[in-house]
Amino acid sequence: MSPDSAQVAVRLAQQIEASGPISVAEYMRVANTAYYGRADPLGAEGDFITAPEISQMFGEMVGIWLSDIWLRHRPATCHYVELGPGRGTLAADALRTMKRFGWEPSVHFVENSPALRAKQLQAVPDATFHDNLDSLPTDAPLCIVANEFFDALPVRQMVATQSGWRERVVVRDSESGFAAVPGASSADDLIPAHFRTAAMGSIYEICPDASSIMQQLSARLVKQGGVMLVIDYGYTQPALGNTLQAVQSHNYADPFTNPGQLDLTAHVDFFELATCAKNSGLLTAGPSDQGAWLLGLGIEQRAQHLAASNPDRAADINAARQRLVEPDAMGALFKTLAAYAQGWPQPEGFGL
Ligand code: SAH
Repeated sequence: MSPDSAQVAVRLAQQIEASGPISVAEYMRVANTAYYGRADPLGAEGDFITAPEISQMFGEMVGIWLSDIWLRHRPATCHYVELGPGRGTLAADALRTMKRFGWEPSVHFVENSPALRAKQLQAVPDATFHDNLDSLPTDAPLCIVANEFFDALPVRQMVATQSGWRERVVVRDSESGFAAVPGASSADDLIPAHFRTAAMGSIYEICPDASSIMQQLSARLVKQGGVMLVIDYGYTQPALGNTLQAVQSHNYADPFTNPGQLDLTAHVDFFELATCAKNSGLLTAGPSDQGAWLLGLGIEQRAQHLAASNPDRAADINAARQRLVEPDAMGALFKTLAAYAQGWPQPEGFGL
């Protein structure tokens, strides 16, 4: 165990000793804040790799998608906003593409990791940083992008037990450090009626931060105009299941060991995100499979063009395209969802 991890583990253990078990969400929040604040976790050398780090084509498709909307709507100004931009690679690729269409928006990054802010500044030197959504500009429409951001937000987990639904809470465990067990009070009220009688041991997750962020941004888009694109792994209908996972050095691990050393994520509830957007008065497109969305925007043609101009890299470019698009790679597990203000153009790529 590294000193970092030991420190986070000690802090969590003290908190549990002082005030009792904590929710899975609280554990995930503390662990992930430490994890992302510590260092850059991305890339082949790190713990996990994301679509923009696989190929420039991913950010370019996002740039084309936004440019198409911008060209059809032509707002006088419009801010580019990205949530959790990682190394800033997606933004750099998207903004380069947008510039080719004559669009150079101001750039706003919502990011709370000092280590990643430094990387993002290298990729996009004129970006403005925000700790949270409150300080985002209010003077013009927003074009918001979030790739693999929502999966990092803390989830609460409820479990079906003999005595009804209970929230899972984290306690100390002598062997692995921590463990999740059913808590003391009833969580029946948090479970949708059609899941109440699910089999013993079933797990139901909610992500209050995701709903809150979606509601806040939807309110902004209703007021200021604009669009939002969410890309992540997740499910499109309400579902049961334990999707909390930990990844370290590209391998799965026990989520309740080494807090702050592992990337903790949960699958994103796209049904809930779309519902928040619609209830706020936005229109939505998707969720669609990432593969279909990328193909609809022309990734195939882009890959051919890139390969023709870089024959020595043709095999890599083709492999990257396959990884992003094929259903047995990232193409089907990852979804894309668009939310947009009334009066804004219907976004491309959703087979509408
Ligand atoms: N979008 C990037 C990185 C994904 S990793 C990519 O696709 O490569 C998750 C990103 O979200 C990191 O930049 C992390 O620091 C950021 N993040 C996680 N939780 C956050 C929070 N609560 N507020 C702001 N940023 C957060």
